[in-house]
Amino acid sequence: MGDVLPFDRAAKLVRDTRPSPSIDLAEVDDFAPAPLLGDWVARTFIDPAGPLHNPRHDHLAEARIGWLWTTAEQRNHNAVVMGECRLIQAQQRKWSSALQHWLWREFFAEVPDIVITIDATWAAQADDWSFCALIEHELCHAGQARDGDGEPRFDVEGKPIFTILAHDVEQFVDVVARYGPAAAGIEDMVAAAKSKPIFGQAQITAACGTCGRKMA
Ligand SMILES: [Zn+2]
Repeated sequence: MGDVLPFDRAAKLVRDTRPSPSIDLAEVDDFAPAPLLGDWVARTFIDPAGPLHNPRHDHLAEARIGWLWTTAEQRNHNAVVMGECRLIQAQQRKWSSALQHWLWREFFAEVPDIVITIDATWAAQADDWSFCALIEHELCHAGQARDGDGEPRFDVEGKPIFTILAHDVEQFVDVVARYGPAAAGIEDMVAAAKSKPIFGQAQITAACGTCGRKMA
């Protein structure tokens, strides 16, 4: 997990820099692009020099990630979904696909590789560590595809090939180690859960639309 900031410095940094959805949602209902959130995530978690850098996300340095705030409600069984990560497929010769790609270009000026949607209503009142835990949980879904030998795959231009990872203990244990066990729900995570979180304790029991899991 590399060097991490002492708790008090990390806490202050997140408190001082975390973007508020109200900035992006001022004039938009339902969905709004969240460029400030995207910039903050890149600077904070993905940039190797970022204060909460996590090397698990290094392949995302080359990813075009479209971030969205939403005020629309999504439910997964009984849980309200707070975040979702999805892979954007290549455009097909269908109006539905063309319309979707047109929408992405309207939102982001280009078609992203991955779209991550965050519930703005929840984010506006979530504590800092719960917010960070949700962001990293969604980032953990945005994995790099691997070949039969387990080696990371790249396209012809040398760019990582992205894939959505299911909720896998190894991929998500970081989130518990960094933010605590509030809703780990997996036995293998208990070891990480028993240790003090590196950053701070998340309080949420939010749900993810990608894996349906409640998360720390
Ligand atoms: Zn998930």
